[in-house]
Amino acid sequence: MDIEAILRKEFLEKEDLVRLLGAQGEEMKQLIRKALEVKLERLDNRVHLRGLIELSNVCRKSCLYCGVRRDNDRVTRYTLTEDQVVGCARLAKQLNYGSVAIQSGERNDPEFVAMITRLIHRIKEIDNGSLGITLSLGEQSEETYRRWFEAGAHRYLLRIESSDEELYYRIHPRDERHDFHRRLDCIDTLLSLGYQTGTGVMVGLPFQTLDNLANDLLFFRRKDVAMVGMGPYIPHPDTPLYPYADQIPSVEDRMNLTLKMIAILRLMMPEINMVAATANQTIDPLGREKAIQAGANVIMPNLTPNEYREDYLIYPDKACVSDKPEECFSCLDIRMRAIGHEILYNEWGDSVAFTKKM
Ligand code: SAH
Repeated sequence: MDIEAILRKEFLEKEDLVRLLGAQGEEMKQLIRKALEVKLERLDNRVHLRGLIELSNVCRKSCLYCGVRRDNDRVTRYTLTEDQVVGCARLAKQLNYGSVAIQSGERNDPEFVAMITRLIHRIKEIDNGSLGITLSLGEQSEETYRRWFEAGAHRYLLRIESSDEELYYRIHPRDERHDFHRRLDCIDTLLSLGYQTGTGVMVGLPFQTLDNLANDLLFFRRKDVAMVGMGPYIPHPDTPLYPYADQIPSVEDRMNLTLKMIAILRLMMPEINMVAATANQTIDPLGREKAIQAGANVIMPNLTPNEYREDYLIYPDKACVSDKPEECFSCLDIRMRAIGHEILYNEWGDSVAFTKKM
């Protein structure tokens, strides 16, 4: 079937997804144009911000791709103080960001759970609860997720990383700490507790096929998630997956594949929130702009104090590590205007798909 016929379809089937993922050149441009058109029609040209706070690189897991994995002893471990985190949230408010996202290596000890609960309460005290709070703190018990939800967090990001069990275990150790089914269960729990739930995958992993990626897209639709984050895989030299770096698509191909994933998902789930991941900008100076123009509608400017950013290198050469938060602010505004988009300040920017479902 030709691309135009597929792009006119109401409901995309698996074979359509594989076909679209393989689109090159002019066909790929058609796909991306269509996705932008759908986004502008359904969600407007507004871009939402989440000020990213990288709370800690202490992690109990050892994911084979991740630079801050527990077994990487070259990392200097840090955890921000509660006052520092609250300071970041105040800065978000000052910069008119409507929302913050707290991300961290995975810990699930009682001290950590209690610290996050306190932090949520303290952030909610800023300006009468005007900041939205997204968490990205890995796998937790249902009780913990509930406690944080009741404290005031309303969005949670937990990428499945790959929805294919076999591929999942090629990029994670096969042990009790890295259990594919538990990760799936966590996503279900988050959905059932009422979080706006986000998931996602890395694109261009070793061993990953177009068929895997098509199944990932079907997984997002089947779970009916409110948000998705997808970014290119970037090999980190201090990780066990690094030796496979010569088997993955080129930087350009990973970028294009990520853009196609975003564009196709925008056609499949027109009203979800999709982030233009920082990893896009790391491999391409205009990567975030390209993702926005392919259908993404969220950006996560980094608010982490600069002295800690070098230690949160989940992948190498992360973009904006040396930028001051205030610089990010004006830089982003200009960059978005340049591509005909507008940042929506002082709003939570909830997923339209989620709001309608409620
Ligand atoms: N501990 C949290 C947050 C993980 S970091 C959790 O488990 O959810 C956020 C995301 O960074 C991960 O979900 C993963 O998809 C991405 N990431 C990690 N290492 C990466 C790499 N080398 N290249 C690209 N993305 C990576």
